Amino acid sequence: MSFRWLVCGFALGLGAVSALGTGAASAANKPSTRRQATPQQFSLKKRPVVALTFDDLPAAGGLLNDDSRTRILTTLAEELKANHLKGTYGFVNAVDLQDDPDVREALRAWVNAGMNIGNHTWSHPSLSDDSVQEYEHDIAEDEPYLRAYAGGRDWHWFRYPYLEEGNTLEKRNDVLSWLGERGYRVAQVTLNFEDDDWSDPYLRCVAKHDDAEIAWLKQSYLENAAEFIRLGREEQQIAFGHEVPNVLLLHATDFTTLMLPSLIHLLRQDGFRFAPLPKIEQNPVYAEEPKVAVPEGGPLQDEFLKAQHIASPPFQPEPVEQLNSTCR
Ligand SMILES: [Zn+2]
Repeated sequence: MSFRWLVCGFALGLGAVSALGTGAASAANKPSTRRQATPQQFSLKKRPVVALTFDDLPAAGGLLNDDSRTRILTTLAEELKANHLKGTYGFVNAVDLQDDPDVREALRAWVNAGMNIGNHTWSHPSLSDDSVQEYEHDIAEDEPYLRAYAGGRDWHWFRYPYLEEGNTLEKRNDVLSWLGERGYRVAQVTLNFEDDDWSDPYLRCVAKHDDAEIAWLKQSYLENAAEFIRLGREEQQIAFGHEVPNVLLLHATDFTTLMLPSLIHLLRQDGFRFAPLPKIEQNPVYAEEPKVAVPEGGPLQDEFLKAQHIASPPFQPEPVEQLNSTCR
């Protein structure tokens, strides 16, 4: 039996979340003092639900010399179809489509396999670094490519790069209302384990034929996934008083493509069912806003916790140093 940490007295129902307003906004501008937590056991739902989503199409991460983007996205789409996950959304940065026929063919293969595409901006800027005008221009620049590749299907879903929704409340609100006027819905995320951080180490280890380190990468990827999925679900219980239907952020990298069958197996072992993104985001929690700027961004429930200066439950951090040093 494991005891986690639940912030005493701050398990917020949706009504409480809706009520976060200007008071919370002014509190957010003060230096962060995360509230004290008291030990509490979390009990996770037996049948959670999740939509898988993939960012940085059509060229996420590095590429081995003898590999192609078309091979990666074709394999990824086949694996999704084999798991009855047709219609999965991939979020596109069209900047990558400019000069490479393989990249263009890869995106065609994704859509032709029955997968969907959405907007991830043209060049993957951070809203914290850009002005609202620059950022909106970058989103609009992606649109002709989405229109051309989507084949009549709905591409009006937007995923914020780095999950950063603006370092001021004014920017956050401006971009959000601009997206709404343009017919977009925000493809929020609740689960994220930084899967793309395994991409470069994997390519290095393949180049070195280091099977022992590749085995460690596979094991640590799944351990990290399990840990951050648990964390996200526990944070939801603190932020909203209950778990919510989930959206998992993944990247269309070589390594995540390789690991997808194992990741799907892990999710099924946890009792997860799968559902399409538009269905998941019908849940009213996805219409909620923390109503403060959360400059560092993050998954939905994490933004609500940060807005209220509430600490997350403890977690095993990602093995960043080992990932950076392996197969050097
Ligand atoms: Zn991205």
